[in-house]
Amino acid sequence: MSDRANHRVAYFNGNIVPEREVVLPFRDRGFKYGDAAFDMTRTFEGRPFKLKEHVERFYRSLRYLRIDPGLSPAEMVAVSEEVLERNAHFLTPDTDYWLGQRVSRGVDAVGDEGWDHTGPNVIVECVPLPLKARARLFRDGIDIIVPPTRRTAPEALSPRAKTHNYLNLILADLEAKAQDKEAWSVLLDAQGHLAEGIGSNIFIVRDGAVVTPHARWVLPGISRESVIELCGELGIACDEADLDLYDAATADEIFMTSTSLCICPVRSIGGRMLPGPLPGPVTRRLGEAYARLVDCDFVAQYLKHLA
Ligand code: PMP
Repeated sequence: MSDRANHRVAYFNGNIVPEREVVLPFRDRGFKYGDAAFDMTRTFEGRPFKLKEHVERFYRSLRYLRIDPGLSPAEMVAVSEEVLERNAHFLTPDTDYWLGQRVSRGVDAVGDEGWDHTGPNVIVECVPLPLKARARLFRDGIDIIVPPTRRTAPEALSPRAKTHNYLNLILADLEAKAQDKEAWSVLLDAQGHLAEGIGSNIFIVRDGAVVTPHARWVLPGISRESVIELCGELGIACDEADLDLYDAATADEIFMTSTSLCICPVRSIGGRMLPGPLPGPVTRRLGEAYARLVDCDFVAQYLKHLA
């Protein structure tokens, strides 16, 4: 084994094995066509956040794709908890994991290869969060570029399902990064309304009220849902709406939400700087409430990695 090999373990079709032993046949449909679904929660100081909600969303994605993973949601939660526990000792006080579940439809068997297993391939994994790489975003804010490629229309493939096929988002992100390699993409939907980023939801703040695109057009993020709930608790008006580039251009604040980022302020969109301090007052209030919800000062955790 290479000295550089990690020692994490993952669940693979019924067994917990070293990560390097999780190897899929080349005819797996997840590899061939992106015919698979996944979900990811994160830990805060080692504790998983809303694991059950992520697994529920995962099973909705699987139902949409008509894939039966052969495990119940409760079993998937238990397996996820076990994988986390088996990898927990590699965490340090300044690191955390993504905790992810992936299921592909399995291998397209010709019939004579002798595969041991051709049903769905089930993987549960821990991935260290890129806290260092993203720390700067909490100091400087995110620069958003809106790429020409539009978000896949729900009539074609619902953005509400978290499938392995990220090509629409990947191509759009490459377009944004070709303009500014540090930028994050936020796609418009086919109607020209703001949709979402490659792995994050967008919120704008105007006159103290918070607005986010309708769930039909985007992945309904668990962090997005948490922010909507926090707005309710804090008495901040929060709505879903059709938002366009005019709304972004005239926003007081913009922030992005995702499992890894939680809430992260946006500095600019399309080269236009947002007014006011960073984070703005509403983003800051929601960020502080989010930190209380997860019982972890996630901003401080990110910023520690700047040193
Ligand atoms: N949109 C897309 C396309 C995503 O992949 C993600 C990340 N899962 C999100 C939004 C944010 O969702 P969450 O808050 O559940 O991480």
